Amino acid sequence: MNLASDNVVGMSRQVLDTLIAANGGGEPAYGSDSWTAKAEAMLAQVFEHEVSVFLVATGTGANALALAAMTPPWGAVFCHSESHVIDDECGAPEMFTDGAKLVGIPGVGGKFTPADLEETLSRYVPGVVKSVQPSALSISQVTEAGTLYSLDEIRALAAVAKAHRLSVHLDGARFGNAVVALGCTPAEMTWKAGVDIVSFGATKNGAMACEAVIFFDRAKAENFQYRRKRSGHTVSKGRLLGAQMVGYLENGHWLDNARHANAMAQRLSAGFASVPGARLPWPTEANEIFVVLPAAVAAALTADGIRFAPWGSQSLPAGFVIGADERFLRFVTSFATEAEQIERVLAVARGTVAMKAAE
Ligand SMILES: *Cc1c(COP(=O)(O)O)cnc(C)c1O
Repeated sequence: MNLASDNVVGMSRQVLDTLIAANGGGEPAYGSDSWTAKAEAMLAQVFEHEVSVFLVATGTGANALALAAMTPPWGAVFCHSESHVIDDECGAPEMFTDGAKLVGIPGVGGKFTPADLEETLSRYVPGVVKSVQPSALSISQVTEAGTLYSLDEIRALAAVAKAHRLSVHLDGARFGNAVVALGCTPAEMTWKAGVDIVSFGATKNGAMACEAVIFFDRAKAENFQYRRKRSGHTVSKGRLLGAQMVGYLENGHWLDNARHANAMAQRLSAGFASVPGARLPWPTEANEIFVVLPAAVAAALTADGIRFAPWGSQSLPAGFVIGADERFLRFVTSFATEAEQIERVLAVARGTVAMKAAE
């Protein structure tokens, strides 16, 4: 059983079936096909706004290209100090922006406040030649700590950004999980709150390799097709990207997948309350559970063949100290997680079942 990430599972059935349906026959290449056109039209409906859509194969590609469209090489992009764009993209944003600076802002549970943003901005002065020039704000929703910004929090951060003439990017690798957890519309979480460009992830929540860079101001997307091609992200058999997105969105499939993943996360998170010694540094708000477990419990889970991710974070709440005999772990649920799996984890953690031999 592998709960280390939502990338450990394959495609959901509906996405796979749509890919198979798109596989036959001939279609124009490089994204000029009917599947990609349909995906674009569906995303315009989902967001209740005219959009320019660019499909790419990875979230790193989506983020790095989006940021490149928002900042000059001498610009500064403000983001959380443990954000994916800073920590997990091997410098792609810096490379694709031709060297813009990512400025990390610390904050508990993967979030920072408007005051934190203001304070950081005060150290980057527009027009001062020695300073990189404030250009963009990038927030992750769901955050890297599995937490959520409320709509009010997004609005407030975007308002600070706008007051300083920054463009606003939202890294939505887990966009679906966030939308169903907040019970809001995609529009409310983005352009209505002041977000300009979204990296809309489908991969983790059911697709094979498909993410969309979405612009709400089509004029800003004018040269993006060249940027994408230069980066090697213009897929020749583009209909297979389009088909993934169509299968992902059709009949609210993406929302169903996200709802299921979130429900499984709530079940696991709530269940840890009955595991002696288990502690959560912050609440479980989407499909990622961060938990501190006694080392013996973590070892028992491993011995039972249960996989999870050992974690580390500078974002722990003040006074939340992890002891030498404790382990800080991340569990991630997905559309494919089964309730029986959650119950197994909890039973092993409580020591109430005989362990099976390690795989
Ligand atoms: C997974 C993830 C991405 C995308 O990563 P890729 O591995 O490049 O697809 C981007 N942002 C966040 C917050 C993520 O968790």
